[in-house]
Amino acid sequence: MLIVQKYGGTSVGNCERIQNVATRVAESKKAGHSLIVVVSAMSGETDKLLGYTKFFSKLPNEREMDMVLSAGERITSALLAIALEELGYKAISLSGRGAGMITDSSHTKARIQMIDTLRLNELLAKDYIIVVAGFQGVTSKGEVTTLGRGGSDLSAVALAGALEADLCEIYTDVDGVYTTDPRIEPKAKKIDKISYDEMLELASMGAKVLLNRSVEMAKKLNVNLVTRNSFNHNEGTLITKEELIMEHPIVSGIALDKNQARVSICNVEDRPGIAAEIFGKLSEANINVDMIVQTIGRDGKTDLDFTIPEVELENTKRVLKSFEDNVESIDYDSEIAKVSIVGVGMKSHSGVAAKAFQGLAEDNINIMMISTSEIKISMIIKLKYSELAIRTLHSIYELEK
Ligand code: ASP
Ligand code: MG
Repeated sequence: MLIVQKYGGTSVGNCERIQNVATRVAESKKAGHSLIVVVSAMSGETDKLLGYTKFFSKLPNEREMDMVLSAGERITSALLAIALEELGYKAISLSGRGAGMITDSSHTKARIQMIDTLRLNELLAKDYIIVVAGFQGVTSKGEVTTLGRGGSDLSAVALAGALEADLCEIYTDVDGVYTTDPRIEPKAKKIDKISYDEMLELASMGAKVLLNRSVEMAKKLNVNLVTRNSFNHNEGTLITKEELIMEHPIVSGIALDKNQARVSICNVEDRPGIAAEIFGKLSEANINVDMIVQTIGRDGKTDLDFTIPEVELENTKRVLKSFEDNVESIDYDSEIAKVSIVGVGMKSHSGVAAKAFQGLAEDNINIMMISTSEIKISMIIKLKYSELAIRTLHSIYELEK
């Protein structure tokens, strides 16, 4: 098999850990696989480098920043190559440029445009273990770029896509994706297999093992992703096409997002164009509106409730100021949480939502807003009940089994 492995910052956090990674890579090599290994900078290194640039300027030149920031990954890649050679393997490190990673020219947040795989294929044919510095590329004019924080996952997924690798393994310090946050519900179980879409729903709400951008790219390029722990040999979680998963549980996981705020506009004029005006202004200000509920109008007036990211609260208040005179009131509430039930099995089962509402009712938790999609039911509740709600829902759908 051709496998792309990616090791994150904690997995390569010091020389002993890089040595441990070398041993693991060697195990895969001995098992007969062709290997490309993508590495992050040692944990804390990118922040340190960023700090250096800020010493000299509040707004450092971004081209120069990329020259500095990309160094962290180059160091780890070369150290790992040395460690592998010492173990008796043919290994070579490559920078983003060396690996043919061509990006656009948006420094510090570049997008991968294509990968020139010529050199990679030559080296693979000669049986080298290729160690690639993640998080970086080069523009068609030869300028060094970086892909945005956390971007080495993207390097790995893009390489796996371009080389049509059989597997892309992302190594971190957790065992995989869980049915819910184990810090809230200790009975949470590691999920063996999950579809891209379910993963996107769980990740955007706090199951932070993978960047959403990486999962989206994996879906687009048809890359089989596995997240595993580099500190043990547990199986990890496979993230793949829905069709490749034979048995779907009705519910795969429960996600929690505590970083939302609710906006309630009371008695706004009920006429064509009003939603366009309000949400148009918010979108101009780059405020990402999530759930929206509008009640049935009476006497030419209606109520409009929606959620926004909590960090945009002040910004939103500023934008909505101009509407204040034409409505009865605008209330803001950041003491809320969004709890979501996610599962592709919902598509073919009824009564999933009713069960959730029943469970929360028994806990005396009031549901303020509800929204549903094919594979997700989201509810807005009071922040202080969110952890109780998670535990209740987790047990209602028997996710501990
Ligand atoms: N070292 C980079 C960062 O910390 C990229 C990565 O680790 O994925 O953002
Ligand atoms: Mg990282």
